[in-house]
Amino acid sequence: MTRASRSPNLYNVFMNGKADARGLAILGSTGSIGTQALEVVAAHPERLRVVAITAYSNVELLEEQARVYRPLLVGMVLPEAAAVLRSRLAGTGIEVVAGTECLVEAAVYPMADVVLNGVVGSAGLPPTLAALGAGKRLALANKESIVAGGELVLEALKTGGELIPVDSEHGAIFHCLRGEDLSDVDAIVLTASGGPFYGRSREELAGVTVEDALAHPTWSMGKKITVDSATLMNKGLEVIEAHYLFGLPYDAIKVVAHPQSVVHSLVEFRDGSLSAQLSMPDMRLPIALALSYPERWGPPFKNTDLAALGSLTFGEVDRDAFRCLDLAYRAGREGGLATAVLNAANEVAVASFLQGRIGFLDIERVIEETLDRYEPAGARSLDDVTVAEGWARATAEEAAGEAG
Ligand code: NAD
Ligand code: MG
Repeated sequence: MTRASRSPNLYNVFMNGKADARGLAILGSTGSIGTQALEVVAAHPERLRVVAITAYSNVELLEEQARVYRPLLVGMVLPEAAAVLRSRLAGTGIEVVAGTECLVEAAVYPMADVVLNGVVGSAGLPPTLAALGAGKRLALANKESIVAGGELVLEALKTGGELIPVDSEHGAIFHCLRGEDLSDVDAIVLTASGGPFYGRSREELAGVTVEDALAHPTWSMGKKITVDSATLMNKGLEVIEAHYLFGLPYDAIKVVAHPQSVVHSLVEFRDGSLSAQLSMPDMRLPIALALSYPERWGPPFKNTDLAALGSLTFGEVDRDAFRCLDLAYRAGREGGLATAVLNAANEVAVASFLQGRIGFLDIERVIEETLDRYEPAGARSLDDVTVAEGWARATAEEAAGEAG
């Protein structure tokens, strides 16, 4: 629904006279991306108005956010947690919705102009499709949506919604492509910090602990993406994300190690020019750009002092030590539902690692065994994705069980 088609009175009363403010729904508001998105809102209260927020189970934080930002709708996936929240928010006029459906409800909420999807995992796919189907701007952090349902996301985009990537690398490429002709692009180069184990050999990776894996050198993020960064599967998921977002073949998507995480990614043009986007690592910048586009809003959250940084370095990614990256290229090239299978197997493997059930190098083994057993098929609907994921989760659980 466009702003013009809403009841103007209701809209103006609700927006408290902020006629130009964009209505924002934040899915996963209690997470790393979600809380940083709220910081962006706090920095731009005249431009953004939070209309809906959702979380999985964190009652305390969601209640606090609801009281501070006064959305109209609050969604809590876990029903028991939703019941507690509903009684705590009684009398505030805020509607509390329980269950997985709350994600789609928030994604299509009429007052939302922009939907920020900061959910972790492929649970983010239904609201991604719903937001685009409802003609919203989707500020997408949830890369698993695209990895699990890339073809479906592209189909949904044709119906009129708009997708702006929040992932810092894809945000950087989006930035570098402003005003450019896509046919002039030869390749894109995704930068990888390398995670906490950059430079380690395979032997050195065998015994790393959960605590080691969660100690990321440059970014503070949720646990799942932090482990993905340590295995380099995060970069693998981003290669697939880039393939769908920018329409490039896998051979034209390169990865380079860049431990400082200041150059967020690059575009290579046909004349040999490289364009890059640089800034200190801070997700509030790509979040803000996805919300403000085509405008830019200041002041900066962080300034970049190049002289103080001194040097920026680049190197090869060690694909022999970190095999998840090539598993992602393999699934991407297989196409169809192979990337949904890769993603689901990774979600199971990472959860098993975090629970101490498998070792670090078992993560790639579980994913590879699942991919090896998979019979290729295409995705025509969300149900196809759900079925393939169900099979992949069961297969990956079995492979994870073999570790113990
Ligand atoms: P997080 O674990 O900190 O937060 C996840 C949020 O999603 C929480 O609000 C949680 O309540 C909610 N959630 C979890 N499981 C859910 C489910 N099954 N259904 C509905 N809601 C659920 O994760 P994060 O680090 O904020 O990452 C979120 C997404 O953004 C991921 O896809 C990640 O890859 C991507 N991303 C994150 C960063 C970062 O800096 N954190 C950077 C780039 C991309
Ligand atoms: Mg990223």
